[in-house]
Amino acid sequence: MYHFSRSIYRELASDILEDRPEHDGPTNQERVLHSCEVCVERLATDWHYFARPTKTLFNDIRIYFPMSAQLKVYKTVDRYMSFAREYFVNNPIAERLECRATTRRGTPCQRTPLPHNGYCPSHQHLAETEEVRLAA
Ligand SMILES: [Zn+2]
Repeated sequence: MYHFSRSIYRELASDILEDRPEHDGPTNQERVLHSCEVCVERLATDWHYFARPTKTLFNDIRIYFPMSAQLKVYKTVDRYMSFAREYFVNNPIAERLECRATTRRGTPCQRTPLPHNGYCPSHQHLAETEEVRLAA
């Protein structure tokens, strides 16, 4: 799944602002790549709850780019995050293949979820209340 973050990084790397010479710790390049990885990983494992991936990643990395590159950064991030989200929705990774609900005993439900909402057939009612909550 890291090919998404590397693709974003590759497209944007040449626009990243130079570090100041006295700067210690990770370089701007490393920070940008790290942010891309964190966001893509979150999208892969938790896309149900990750409402605005483009905005989140853009806000994380925009400070490492000059004003003149902001639009390009936003568009690139948006293109890849939309593509990645689509991909993860259609190809759930292994960790996602358990129902998201907790049983009455407090243990995670381990039945196979339906791909469109991540709940197993007996927990579909939870998906409905969730939609109501999101709509409210
Ligand atoms: Zn369940």
